[in-house]
Amino acid sequence: VRGMMMDTPLNVSAALEYGAEMYPDAAIVSAAIEGGMHRTTFGQMLPRTAQLAHALKALGVKEGDRVATLAWNGYRHLELYYAIGGIGAVCHTINPRLFPEQLVYIVNHAKDRVMFFDINLAPLVAKMRAHWPKDLIYVAMCDAAHKPTGEGLEGVLAYEDLLAGQPTCIAWPTIDENAGVSLCYTSGTTGEPKGALYSQRSVMLHALFTLTSGMPGLRSGQTILPVVPLFHVNAWGLPYTAPIIGLNLIMPGVKLDGPNLYDLLESEKVFSSWGVPTVWMGLLAEIQKRGKKPSALGEVIIGGSAAPRAMIEAFEKMDISVVHGWGMTEMSPVGTLGTLPPKDRDKPIEERIDLKARQGRRMFGVELKIVDEAGKRLPHDGEASGELFVKGPGIISGYYENPEASAKAFDAEGWFGTGDVAKITPDGYLIIVDRTKDLVKSGGEWISSIDVENAALSHPGIAACAVIGVPHPKWQERPLMIAVRASGADPKKEEVLATLEKAIAKWQMPDDVVFVDQLPLTATGKVSKLTLRKQFADHALP
Ligand code: ADP
Repeated sequence: VRGMMMDTPLNVSAALEYGAEMYPDAAIVSAAIEGGMHRTTFGQMLPRTAQLAHALKALGVKEGDRVATLAWNGYRHLELYYAIGGIGAVCHTINPRLFPEQLVYIVNHAKDRVMFFDINLAPLVAKMRAHWPKDLIYVAMCDAAHKPTGEGLEGVLAYEDLLAGQPTCIAWPTIDENAGVSLCYTSGTTGEPKGALYSQRSVMLHALFTLTSGMPGLRSGQTILPVVPLFHVNAWGLPYTAPIIGLNLIMPGVKLDGPNLYDLLESEKVFSSWGVPTVWMGLLAEIQKRGKKPSALGEVIIGGSAAPRAMIEAFEKMDISVVHGWGMTEMSPVGTLGTLPPKDRDKPIEERIDLKARQGRRMFGVELKIVDEAGKRLPHDGEASGELFVKGPGIISGYYENPEASAKAFDAEGWFGTGDVAKITPDGYLIIVDRTKDLVKSGGEWISSIDVENAALSHPGIAACAVIGVPHPKWQERPLMIAVRASGADPKKEEVLATLEKAIAKWQMPDDVVFVDQLPLTATGKVSKLTLRKQFADHALP
């Protein structure tokens, strides 16, 4: 017998309507690209978003059309999320840091109809335009006075001009909840980028699921600063979470270095901030310089790559609680979160830090399994490690318009293969051993680059490091460490190796340590091991 309940589709427009009605004063504060701070609220955002939705329709945008954004974290970007999704179109967020050839590929592959861009990205648009569809409509995210001009920017429209005169009310259409609402391409370290097309239903469920994590930051009235960009996996879902729970959002714009971030965290009294480890390196250095933490900061969410234990320790010891999360573009993106279960919350601090160095426990709505090379399930005993597969309503069922990649992504039971190697403890903690492609394969044994990096970062003289495998005639590969010195420190290779010897086995020890000024980053701000592998392919090990 079927349940007799209303079949009301989960639509994103309902989230904004709800936020505007229930938390009209929840703030959206943006470091504006034009300069200065811009302040608005969810209550004020709704009528502008309605105007934008009307404007999109006037431009000819129809249900299912892709509308691109090339923009940083700011209030207009948020309005775009809801105006585009609200009328049933697809918000295709583009990472401006992608390589030009990737930008060419994804805009053409997505067949975008309109492109909204931040004014400081006008030079990029002007450069790329010849390679993008001829009939693409360009809108600069500014008023008429700030509209960029010049070669390659002919015919560009201004955002505020589009809104002017449009009605401030709209009856949002009812959209099939399985319709696409936003599109994000993976950065594609190998091959062409692949598109994850989230649905109205999946983004709303993902938002609700993250709210079950019990993170203190996800409570009405809290102030959150997402350093994670709106152009990468929906800033970990925050645009959809914020209005339904009534969060204040601080949108940092372009300047994400330690000093700028510190100032913004301080001036806006931010409680919780979300980002990848490389961002926190910068902030921690600034905190050290100023001798105190931003006064209201109580929580940081670290994900995207492994949060080093030393980083977690530094935050925890200044009373900033770390939530270590793991996920990926294909998962909307959150898979696991490191809020501790009740049994672990009162453990001594060192034990808690060890637990937080793991990648957290699965969020409701995400299933995990690890398998051996034959695809046989491995036990969740904290010992066995194997490839991690995932399942759930927030996980892709295929790549957008890409049957070849889709055919390779799932196992016979329909689970998605993450490409990560992991262990799972009996009490549900996920331990990411490494990405399959980052493991160092030494003489038939695997060395976790994450473990070696973690050990090295406990040396106070090391600010950042990466371990890669370099080809070796006898062992196939051997680990090489590339490290950045902490400012003012001058650690010697022997000292670093001596620190490592205490934490890892002899055969896992790097054969060499090379010091560099900085590590290369990917478009999403993670250390690019691919670049390092190319750079150090011929490195002569001692
Ligand atoms: P890209 O790196 O191409 O931008 P994603 O952002 O989707 O793609 O990255 C997902 C991958 O990042 C995961 O498969 C995993 O290897 C890595 N990752 C994410 N979070 C963590 C974490 N907390 N610890 C270790 N690895 C992580």
